Amino acid sequence: MAELTGHCFCGAVVWRAAGPMLWTALCHCEDCRRAASSDYVSWFGVRRQSVVWQGPRSFYRSSEKVTRSFCKTCGTPTSFETEVFPHETLLYANTLNDPEIYEPTAHIFWSERLPWVRVNDDLPKHPKGLQHAAQSGKRLLD
Ligand SMILES: [Zn+2]
Ligand SMILES: [Zn+2]
Repeated sequence: MAELTGHCFCGAVVWRAAGPMLWTALCHCEDCRRAASSDYVSWFGVRRQSVVWQGPRSFYRSSEKVTRSFCKTCGTPTSFETEVFPHETLLYANTLNDPEIYEPTAHIFWSERLPWVRVNDDLPKHPKGLQHAAQSGKRLLD
């Protein structure tokens, strides 16, 4: 499997992980939007065990079971991990060295999307998703 690699904006934080991506999804939840200061977040999952980090990261406990990390130098969001799925790390497609390889398969938390975000794709649009799954232990895309 091709290795996945990425870095933050300033380059101080570098990561690599075993491919392929376990799943991909665009998350519209308010937590993700605020944490990334973005219209929505392009996530993918990898096996946590396979992720190798280099560089200075800060960690923020964004909800009871969720920890998000950021580059300590430039502030780029770098990961999401929940105790509910201890074997997975969620990474941001926009930190990939090669973001063109990313293929989203669904929208999640569609119920929280911003009214001015216009999406014209044919992907499934799940009303909930990530946070709901992270709290309840249900499958992410259910
Ligand atoms: Zn950085
Ligand atoms: Zn989210």
